[in-house]
Amino acid sequence: MTEIEQVQLTMGGFEVNSYVIHGPEGDIIVDAGAEPQKILGALQAPTVAILITHNHGDHIGALGDVRRETNVPVYMHPVDADAAGVRDYEPLGDGDELALAGLNLSVLHTPGHSPGSVTFVVGEDQVVGDLILPGSVGRTDLSGASWEEIEVSIRKVMPLWTDSTRLFAGHGPVLDAMQELENNPYIPLGIL
Ligand SMILES: [Zn+2]
Ligand SMILES: [Zn+2]
Repeated sequence: MTEIEQVQLTMGGFEVNSYVIHGPEGDIIVDAGAEPQKILGALQAPTVAILITHNHGDHIGALGDVRRETNVPVYMHPVDADAAGVRDYEPLGDGDELALAGLNLSVLHTPGHSPGSVTFVVGEDQVVGDLILPGSVGRTDLSGASWEEIEVSIRKVMPLWTDSTRLFAGHGPVLDAMQELENNPYIPLGIL
């Protein structure tokens, strides 16, 4: 299993997660919401990329600083990048396969919480951003958000879940997909 390190950050009194994926040939940062020095401090190897799950401030607030320090490409869905004014990025699309740091990651476009939200699939694990949260899902009362879309997106990531799948969410602890399936009232039934 690939080591995916959770970096817990504090932003304006609430918690948000970044992740560092430690690949065989380097590190990949996922999201950079706050406390750039804490994110940079989690790096153990040359960093090859910054991946962004979605464009909310608690996920990109420290992107400028982290990008400046690492000088690596930023990968983001164009809808969210353009809306947030992020320039100079590698556009992500549904079904993209990324070969980074000796790993193969796949990208699923999973809108609902934001129009350009994506999920990164790393082996059996998924970095879901705010698509799924502990016992909940990302807010859908924000501009550009949609409950109908988030349900479709959850149904898109669920068929890939196995008994050992971990979900790395934007907030809260690392989740066990099977436990979430059992306990999270927002996970649609009848697919597994
Ligand atoms: Zn969000
Ligand atoms: Zn968030």
